[in-house]
Amino acid sequence: MPASLPRFSPKMMARLDELGRVSENPENLTRTTFTPEHKRGNALALQWMQEAGMTAAEDDAGNVVGLYAGSNPTLPRLMLGSHLDTVRNAGKYDGMLGVVAAIACVEELHKQGKRLPFGIEVVGFSNEEGTRFGAAMTGSRAIAGTFDAALFEAKDRNGVSLRDALIEFGRDPAKIPAIARKQGEIAAFMELHIEQGPVLERQGLALGVVTAISGARRYRVDMKGLAGHAGTVPMGGRQDALLAAAEVALFIEQRCTGTPTLVGTVGQMEAFPGAVNVIPGAARFSIDIRAAIDAVRDVAADEVLAEIPRIAAKRRVEATITPLYDSKATPCDPRLMDQVEAAILAQGVPTMRLPSGAGHDAMTVAPLCPVGMIFMRCTRGISHNPLEAVLPEDVELATAALFHFIEHFTPESMQ
Ligand SMILES: [Zn+2]
Repeated sequence: MPASLPRFSPKMMARLDELGRVSENPENLTRTTFTPEHKRGNALALQWMQEAGMTAAEDDAGNVVGLYAGSNPTLPRLMLGSHLDTVRNAGKYDGMLGVVAAIACVEELHKQGKRLPFGIEVVGFSNEEGTRFGAAMTGSRAIAGTFDAALFEAKDRNGVSLRDALIEFGRDPAKIPAIARKQGEIAAFMELHIEQGPVLERQGLALGVVTAISGARRYRVDMKGLAGHAGTVPMGGRQDALLAAAEVALFIEQRCTGTPTLVGTVGQMEAFPGAVNVIPGAARFSIDIRAAIDAVRDVAADEVLAEIPRIAAKRRVEATITPLYDSKATPCDPRLMDQVEAAILAQGVPTMRLPSGAGHDAMTVAPLCPVGMIFMRCTRGISHNPLEAVLPEDVELATAALFHFIEHFTPESMQ
């Protein structure tokens, strides 16, 4: 750490606390999309953007967007930011850190009376998490030009559609296509985000350079066996669907252990009829397999899919596999990775490169322009939880690195 006084973190920690108090309920932090709290959170971000010398406004997808104009308006702009919405019972750094840090960097430029040749756009994305409507990343989709009108029909748990909630929020769904940035308008997008995992902390590092956002393959599997009396059917003669499901889960653990970035999870499992004295005649479970490299994920997923009928046959049950989701990995731009790495090293701290197992707005922005991400350590890797915590000195370092990246960035480096 440089010995000088922190430039960024005291104000940023106060702002993160302030945003963290804007919640739908007093017990915890819950700020979902197109709610009065979303409006209040946006108003805070807009005010901070204006104080930092930006022209700022809320757009028709519920994003807040600030522009710090460059001296050469013909140059493509640098886009920075992250999301302002949360999961239910959330932590106050997931997403918000990236927005507050980007504003702090522009504020520093403004304070120095400095203008870069290129403009800087800071975005506080709406609805990254998909907490209220299921449909996620609609704010960044609107900006990337990949917002599908079918998303308007997504409904919250009270049956309110995304379209109606957007109108109630005071925005015009018909104007969403106009939000999309044109190809070539944005030189690059850079997102600072907490890691939401334990890797950096275990390595004793404050900051990491993200290499890729992992793709995922998800399935639902139904196992059909034969229900029977738990007291009368001997162990050898059973067709226990739950045990077949359990064996698949253990196979996934074994197959996904030991390969870098590969992870496999059975997060849901149900037994039917679900009685204490009945052998499970059916079982249903989920599979989620991710890796930073598509081929690694695909080979593992294909092996798991091939193993399921073998386990089912051995246990005399029937397996039905339903694909639910398949997304490719989003690689971060190697030039941005080098620039971010140099910016971190310039702070006098070591760093590492690591993939993101979680999805982020950067993934959605990728069709528009080259994207990069900086990961910051969070305590014990905990996220999506009120226990989410960060060190103010890490916030200082992360923001100083982001500032260094911005000052040294040139749109030409992306051509
Ligand atoms: Zn996030």
